[in-house]
Amino acid sequence: MGSTVEDKSRAAWDDVLYWHDRLRTTVPLEAVVKEDLLRRGMRCEKDALAAYADYAAKSYFIFTFNRAPLDALSAEERDSAPEEIALTGGPFGFRRTIVSVRLNPQSPWSVSLRDGKVVLMCGDRIVADVAFAPRPPYYGGRTEDGAPLTEVAPSIEWGYLLYLTVFRICQYFGKEEECRFCDINHNFRQQREAGRPYYSVKPVARLMDALRQTVASGATPSAYTLTGGSITTKLDGLDEAGFYLRYAEAIEAEFPRKWIGKAVLQALPKDDVVRLKAAGLRIYHPNYEIWDRAKFEALCPGKARYVGRDEWVKRVCDSVEVFGKGCVIPNFVAGIELSKPFGFASVDEALESTGEGLRYFMERGVLPRFTVWCPEPFSELGSNEPAPLEYHVRLLDLYKRTLESVMKVAPPGYGPPGLGRSVFSVSSFMDVLDPAMPVAPFLD
Ligand code: SF4
Repeated sequence: MGSTVEDKSRAAWDDVLYWHDRLRTTVPLEAVVKEDLLRRGMRCEKDALAAYADYAAKSYFIFTFNRAPLDALSAEERDSAPEEIALTGGPFGFRRTIVSVRLNPQSPWSVSLRDGKVVLMCGDRIVADVAFAPRPPYYGGRTEDGAPLTEVAPSIEWGYLLYLTVFRICQYFGKEEECRFCDINHNFRQQREAGRPYYSVKPVARLMDALRQTVASGATPSAYTLTGGSITTKLDGLDEAGFYLRYAEAIEAEFPRKWIGKAVLQALPKDDVVRLKAAGLRIYHPNYEIWDRAKFEALCPGKARYVGRDEWVKRVCDSVEVFGKGCVIPNFVAGIELSKPFGFASVDEALESTGEGLRYFMERGVLPRFTVWCPEPFSELGSNEPAPLEYHVRLLDLYKRTLESVMKVAPPGYGPPGLGRSVFSVSSFMDVLDPAMPVAPFLD
């Protein structure tokens, strides 16, 4: 009989093969592995990290996205884990699949060094070859006021996206307001305690300095996401729309339409949405997180309190008139539907509910997307196990079928759809789409 670790690894791999076999026409093996890596996390072994000299290290761009606290990781993982890995080749002939690195010392998955090659392993089974995210040419530099460029303008999605978290704290604060799956405020605290140069608010001048250096370095991102915590009162004397608008206006004034501008904000009244569009942003992410009414209210208490579930849905749908069909892209945190104690009791119920939400939004021109939930230890749901792989794989199948029958377009601002081409690293929803699917056009 094998050891517990071996048994766990074998069970994990059997689960991957089982769900791939059940849905092989819509969800390729690469996507099943990716979902499992995202929900469980992975280990990065010391010699594998040492084998790469030059790559983009994990920047903790907004949340930790780890299954363990920073101080429970090895020093090498804490300081040197890559932002993303690409799975290729190996015994299963993987087509390139980009995966965000979420660390978990207990995971059956590891990035390891075998016969001089960095590989992905499940227990003692080699699954694919691994490459680390390329290091953007501006990494290592600093702004004029001394902030590391990696902190101000980190690059994710294999260099496609600049992730601009301009406010690292959320004003939904504490048990009664924070979204229960979110660790933004705890990430900030952990990073500061670890001595990292992490700032709550980024001055506009610092951000613009960083973007100028990014351009000068020869880096060629395609999009930026302007994001941060919610603002329920005022910040720098501005409401939420006003606060984030000043960054969008500065970027678009100096670099008009150089990148696809996206913003992750609360569902705002239409007048504010019009201001965002007028500033030059082209994609709006009023993240909805979970469809079911009671579960939205239980899991997103701040959103329910300050905006309300019905108003949130209405504002999401109304925004399509401003941004255009397919350009309002609220995120669902895939997996929280099955979290305890508020979630559904079965995968079937969770899929039925999320499927209803997908159809509701898509029929109104809204194009939802996912990130895979990985329970972060300092979030309210941190003691949960992740949702089962079954949920994630069946959700991908459901998403693909719903998108193909209702919207018939892929979301813009995510690069090309399809396995081997997609760059979105925190869910496989782009990997499973048909590469021939057209991408929704911008309104202008
Ligand atoms: S709105 Fe919710 S998910 Fe977003 S940063 Fe605040 S607590 Fe986190």
